[in-house]
Amino acid sequence: MQGAALTVRDLSASYGPVRALRSVSLDVPEGACVTVLGGNGAGKSTLLRAISRTLAFHGGSATGTVHFDGKPLHGTGADRVVGEGICQVPEGRQVFARMTVEDNLRAGALGARGDRAAKAAALRRVHELFPVLAERAHQRAGLLSGGEQQMLAVGRALMAGPRLLLLDEPSLGLAPLMAARIADTIREINSQGVSVLLVEQNAALALKLAETAYVLEVGEVTLSGNADTLAASDEVRRRYLGVV
Ligand code: ATP
Repeated sequence: MQGAALTVRDLSASYGPVRALRSVSLDVPEGACVTVLGGNGAGKSTLLRAISRTLAFHGGSATGTVHFDGKPLHGTGADRVVGEGICQVPEGRQVFARMTVEDNLRAGALGARGDRAAKAAALRRVHELFPVLAERAHQRAGLLSGGEQQMLAVGRALMAGPRLLLLDEPSLGLAPLMAARIADTIREINSQGVSVLLVEQNAALALKLAETAYVLEVGEVTLSGNADTLAASDEVRRRYLGVV
């Protein structure tokens, strides 16, 4: 069996009086693609923020444990999480609109380990995955389409050379064809050995990508298991795949 790259146990989170996560436990084995499904407000973004230690920036706090490669991440800072090789692509892309595409990518490598040659290699790899980011290198990021901005957000995270990518609803607001292209790239990144934790409202897309899925409802994991098995289950089909 592969070692568990990310282990989350009994994670609870709140924003003041608002409880957003209740005792969530999940695993992302090394090299795996795992998805967390859930509707609006289920707690998906909160889960990723608690793992990346960015929850406090949003006024939240968490209890429970998070280990990556056996090392505890709870109680550490967001910079250490990045240093350990975990990068988050936030919901809504959040690219630096007034900066060029290339400067956005270079910003992703700031603070990352590796010398200039490693960073140049990372940039080449991002350009190979997303040729449009090379073509538009000197344009302002705000001029890109929504799908291209999502590519830039993923590319920026890849510049830090992550071992685990946390993706917050990468298909949100994209036309089906563009969402499918993003999904293909996530598959490719994962096949190159980067573990993926993907949170999505688009269950059909996420269940095709991931091997394992968790369903989050009002902050609690209510179902989990093999993605194909869940995709075939009546409850998931009815509630998340729109099959009556
Ligand atoms: P969405 O798909 O709408 O982003 P989500 O599954 O990612 O939903 P979260 O954003 O994690 O859900 O929200 C979980 C709960 O926490 C919701 O009740 C939400 O209103 C609340 N919440 C989220 N962010 C904050 C915040 N910064 N301050 C207060 N409450 C928040």
